[in-house]
Amino acid sequence: MNIVVCVKQTTDTAATLSVVDGEASYGDAALVLNPWDEYAVEQALLTKEAEGGKVTALCLGPDSAEDALKQALAMGCDEAVLILDAVFESADTLVVSRALAAGIEKLDPPELVFFGKSAVDSDTGVMGPQVARRLGWPSLNLVAAIPELDASAKTITVERLLEEGRQIVSGRLPAVVSVVKEINEPRYPSFMGIRKASKAEIPRWSAADVGLSGQIQPALSWPEILAPEKSEAVCELIEGGDASEIARKLVDRLVEEKVI
Ligand SMILES: Cc1cc2nc3c(=O)[nH]c(=O)nc-3n(C[C@H](O)[C@H](O)[C@H](O)COP(=O)(O)OP(=O)(O)OC[C@H]3O[C@@H](n4cnc5c(N)ncnc54)[C@H](O)[C@@H]3O)c2cc1C
Repeated sequence: MNIVVCVKQTTDTAATLSVVDGEASYGDAALVLNPWDEYAVEQALLTKEAEGGKVTALCLGPDSAEDALKQALAMGCDEAVLILDAVFESADTLVVSRALAAGIEKLDPPELVFFGKSAVDSDTGVMGPQVARRLGWPSLNLVAAIPELDASAKTITVERLLEEGRQIVSGRLPAVVSVVKEINEPRYPSFMGIRKASKAEIPRWSAADVGLSGQIQPALSWPEILAPEKSEAVCELIEGGDASEIARKLVDRLVEEKVI
């Protein structure tokens, strides 16, 4: 079974976002494999271990994104491809999904494409469904378990995690699956995996390589990013002999301030 896993490089979740000259900035925060994508990589590897085949990690990003692909290789992916082109610098989700779908179509035809639930930085959570739509494949998102996968019958059954419970959904292959963290426990890269990944030459595909030319105009732009206004808070401690006195004084203050 050919399996693709789409991974994004993001800033570390501990990084803080600030606005510098109208641009969002994480400063020199460490860049990592999007944490949700570790679960997608793990699920791709588990599927390969059960069904055979190969796993290809696919990323659209800048030069540095090669490190995220190397982490996916170190975890056990067989191949990796980086889609990189200056035309993607201010890409919106429509452009990114078009490029990823075009990249997937250039690979050996996969039966399954895995995504994380969302990227921790831009966090739209739409990439998996958008790529599914572009490929014309079923989109199974927020998947917490895959109880049935039949490669010969080309069918898949998943459990989707909803707030109210779990929903069982059956579909046909090829399909796009985005996963939530309940689905597995990502493995650590092995020492051998890290060595192999460090030596890997990752192919780079330009927009032209994936057959995109006139379709890379974003529909959305981020012309300006504003920092939230600074608000000053004064803290007043209400004291009293016992709880009912404190509560009475608190209510009096709230009435005085016209809060209640
Ligand atoms: C410098 C910069 C400028 C930007 N400018 C704009 C702009 O002007 N207008 C605008 O609308 N957006 C802009 N974006 C946001 C950009 O479009 C999104 O980062 C991108 O579309 C992916 O969306 P997301 O991060 O919300 O992913 P989500 O949909 O939250 O991610 C879901 C899953 O999709 C996969 N995935 C996401 N991104 C990639 C990727 N690149 N490669 C492989 N897999 C991926 C991962 O599996 C991930 O878990 C900008 C981003 C950057 C870094």
